[in-house]
Amino acid sequence: MSAALIDGFGRTINYVRLSVTDRCDFRCIYCMAEEMTFLPRHSILSLEEIQRCAEIFVANGVSKIRLTGGEPLTRKGIIGLCETISAIPGLNELVMTTNGSQLTKYAQALAEAGVQRLNISLDSLCPAKFKAMTRVGDLQQVLNGIQAARQAGFKRIKINSVIIQGHNDDEILALTAYAIENHVDITFIEEMPLGHVGRSRESALFSSDQVRDSIAAHYALLDSDESSGGPARYMRLQDHPDTRIGFISPHSHNFCSTCNRVRLTVEGKLLLCLGNEHSLDLLTLLRRYPLSNEPVLSAIGEALNNKPEQHHFSSDGDVQIIRFMNASGG
Ligand code: SAM
Ligand code: SF4
Repeated sequence: MSAALIDGFGRTINYVRLSVTDRCDFRCIYCMAEEMTFLPRHSILSLEEIQRCAEIFVANGVSKIRLTGGEPLTRKGIIGLCETISAIPGLNELVMTTNGSQLTKYAQALAEAGVQRLNISLDSLCPAKFKAMTRVGDLQQVLNGIQAARQAGFKRIKINSVIIQGHNDDEILALTAYAIENHVDITFIEEMPLGHVGRSRESALFSSDQVRDSIAAHYALLDSDESSGGPARYMRLQDHPDTRIGFISPHSHNFCSTCNRVRLTVEGKLLLCLGNEHSLDLLTLLRRYPLSNEPVLSAIGEALNNKPEQHHFSSDGDVQIIRFMNASGG
């Protein structure tokens, strides 16, 4: 029987997000600055170390792992890592968040390697706007990737859209219609103030309530108490049962009281909260104790006592956390 990881506020941690790289082939305007410096290879976790961490977490009650980044599909060896993580006894779900740029190449292999669900980021259906938001991305490549994922047989696919006032708030209905047509879910995300991305976030916040109102003006929305084990709240569309509409609302509907997750960055820092700097240096511990997981587990247990009760993102756009989202593992 696995032991449970419980934090100082009694919340059980059963979900871990593992960032497998801080690198990415896009430069989304809400996630990164235009010029980024990425971590040198020697200071990141090896695939074996990531696997070891996954095994420690699952042995202690974690049932869901999300692979993320950076762009996880840019990490060499990612398919093999999916195979070995999905085979860990006791893990119920291996899922991934990707920008979709390489899914035409990898979707089938990911599904065969045991990845059950995909979140695919898509902020615009207009090629020029898509390029502007990702700085370099090609919309058609991602749309092709989504189709490849649909054919690969994942249990569920969800589109993630970060809505930013003045950039893509006029595309909420088009993105919703796209999700309906393609029988996938869609989650609208409020931008979080992580890292200095080179633009002001002030007055760019477009709240989940505003998104919901735009959708409700065109579709009959139904309340739902469903959860996919993460921070999203869901609604259903009365006339389109295959599509759920999710909202991740760090500003307007704080989700901290039900937080069940921690993040491991690719430099081996265990982040206890996305919106606070508290962390534990697991990389050093893993390398200091190559043959024994006990000291690593005991340090994780102690760190969980310091998991903050909540984040304090304010809506004035100020950066409160210096690290970028690509380094945090979104
Ligand atoms: N590269 C992959 C992708 O884009 O899906 C995975 C990593 S990305 C950091 C994970 C998710 O975080 C994406 O859905 C992205 O839209 C979201 N994200 C990035 N920066 C964000 C921010 N500042 N606020 C809210 N969401 C953000
Ligand atoms: Fe890359 Fe994802 Fe960040 Fe966009 S959101 S820059 S795709 S890591």
